[in-house]
Amino acid sequence: MNTYEAIVVGSGISGGWAAKELCDKGIKTLLLERGRNVEHIKDYTTATLNPWDMKHRGRVDKLKRENPIVGRCYAVDEATEHFFVKDNEHPYVQEKPFDWIRGYQVGGKSLIWARQTQRWSPYDFEGPGRDGFAIDWPIRYKDLAPWYSYVEKFIGISGNRDGLETLPDCESMPAFEMNCVEKDMSRKISGANKNWNVVQGRCAHLTKPTVVHTQQGRNQCQARHLCYRGCPFGAYFSSNSSTIPWAMRTGNLTLQPNSIVHSVIYDDTKGKVTGVRVIDAETNKMTEYYAKIIFLNAACLNTNLIALNSTSKRFPNGLGNDNGLLGKYIAFHNYRGTITGTIEGYENSYYFGRRPTQPMMPNFRNVKKQETDFLRGYMTFFETARSRWQQGLGMEGIGADFKNAVTEPGGWHVFMMMQAEHIPEESSQVYLHKELKDAWGMPQLVVNVDYNENDLKIMKDFHEQGSAMLDAAGVKNIKTSDSKQAPGLDIHEMGGIRMGNDPKTSLLNKWNQFHHAQNVFVTDGACMVSTSTQNPSLTFMALTARAVDHAVSELKKGNL
Ligand SMILES: Cc1cc2nc3c(=O)[nH]c(=O)nc-3n(C[C@H](O)[C@H](O)[C@H](O)COP(=O)(O)OP(=O)(O)OC[C@H]3O[C@@H](n4cnc5c(N)ncnc54)[C@H](O)[C@@H]3O)c2cc1C
Ligand code: SF4
Repeated sequence: MNTYEAIVVGSGISGGWAAKELCDKGIKTLLLERGRNVEHIKDYTTATLNPWDMKHRGRVDKLKRENPIVGRCYAVDEATEHFFVKDNEHPYVQEKPFDWIRGYQVGGKSLIWARQTQRWSPYDFEGPGRDGFAIDWPIRYKDLAPWYSYVEKFIGISGNRDGLETLPDCESMPAFEMNCVEKDMSRKISGANKNWNVVQGRCAHLTKPTVVHTQQGRNQCQARHLCYRGCPFGAYFSSNSSTIPWAMRTGNLTLQPNSIVHSVIYDDTKGKVTGVRVIDAETNKMTEYYAKIIFLNAACLNTNLIALNSTSKRFPNGLGNDNGLLGKYIAFHNYRGTITGTIEGYENSYYFGRRPTQPMMPNFRNVKKQETDFLRGYMTFFETARSRWQQGLGMEGIGADFKNAVTEPGGWHVFMMMQAEHIPEESSQVYLHKELKDAWGMPQLVVNVDYNENDLKIMKDFHEQGSAMLDAAGVKNIKTSDSKQAPGLDIHEMGGIRMGNDPKTSLLNKWNQFHHAQNVFVTDGACMVSTSTQNPSLTFMALTARAVDHAVSELKKGNL
């Protein structure tokens, strides 16, 4: 009864994909999820609320006071807070400040992500080997390109075919339009320097659904931008709207919420992994489940935690950890630099709808060779909007005149931010606390991750280059700033169980299998060798689909 052909741990973006692919290939699959069930549409309880329908008009001051870490995430408000983990319920140890933002429920963070989906370029995979940091990736862009296409067609991506070698084109449906100021700015910035290429950000929203999306029961995006509450139209990609119901319809999926995977079982007599130990989140009872293949997709740091907690006679320091590198080389994206400004001359122009994306620029630093005094680079997002009624907050007045005054749109302002590659270091690591446990008896994770000098040099360069871009676009009152935010708030954790060709310097092979436990696969952020400058989840999905294809073919050959 507790035996399946495959077990997937975690039902978020990557685990949902693992489950879908396994089930599509006829594999009886158990999907274990530590959080509660969240059913598409039915459990989006705040999706259609107006601000005045909410007790605190959307504000979560108390939550922020009591849970300062999650309270710092921009997407948390009264309509979304039920999809975010509260600090005080799930403690961890910060050896250095680290804002760990989590979503523990069926669907994981796929419900609350910002859905930016740019492909990595060939240069991103070549970077570490070429510039001599981290280790060389065991795969190249060409290995992943067909899997990007495969995933993109299924999830649905809105965007243009921009023809840039630093941002390969994707399988796309119509892009959201830039507003009039963004269009002008893009033209001016792109015209000012051949390396500055502004394009519309690609995102996992259906602007023109195809047959496969209709089959999933998903519909066209209405540009409401209330996405973080769950979308009743299924217009953005989440595990809940897409991969999990799809897998369920095959008849091969068993979804089991409230199931906290404690560790992987390594059978010393058989010399292989046979299953997982699971704590029931409601009763604390431990049960074992067995399968021939296991996919760990609990999101980067939790997958590290499970692997570190999986000790046996063969692996006393954690699963596959012969080289002592498990939990090391944790990396993230550096979001510290921002730039603001104002722009004049468009006072008679406005825009409609709430577009769920913004213009972006792929990295242009150190792309083909090392050119600066820092390694790698950054991509850039910017957006422009008119300040609205908030402008009236400081205004004096009363009655109808005051009302009319505050409904007048204010001037145009510009916001620009960087998303920079962080160079993974051995000292950036997670490990298990020897004594502290959580409410379910799982060891607490100690996080020791920090910025380095390279991050500061990158931010300086972004401030200079970004200011020059805005200046070229006619922006005034340009101000740079450093948020000094802790790592983690970018919510792009990667590494700790990295891929590589050499078992001495990596944990996983080029198919995401543990070198020393080949029926266990890791395809979430933990497997990443480096971070690139692009949002990572599309790459996690492509790696997952590729790894499942390999796993099932090996299973059928009797190799696993
Ligand atoms: C506000 C926000 C904006 C973001 N924007 C973007 C973006 O624009 N683009 C992008 O690419 N990424 C974005 N991200 C990041 C993106 O959400 C993650 O990269 C992605 O969800 C990772 O997928 P995953 O499968 O590894 O983890 P998750 O989606 O987090 O899923 C992991 C699942 O594992 C479960 N789990 C954990 N531990 C256990 C255990 N012991 N046993 C069983 N289950 C367990 C969790 O409950 C969870 O459901 C954003 C994230 C947030 C919060
Ligand atoms: S913007 Fe699109 S995806 Fe987001 S909530 Fe609205 S309809 Fe759904």
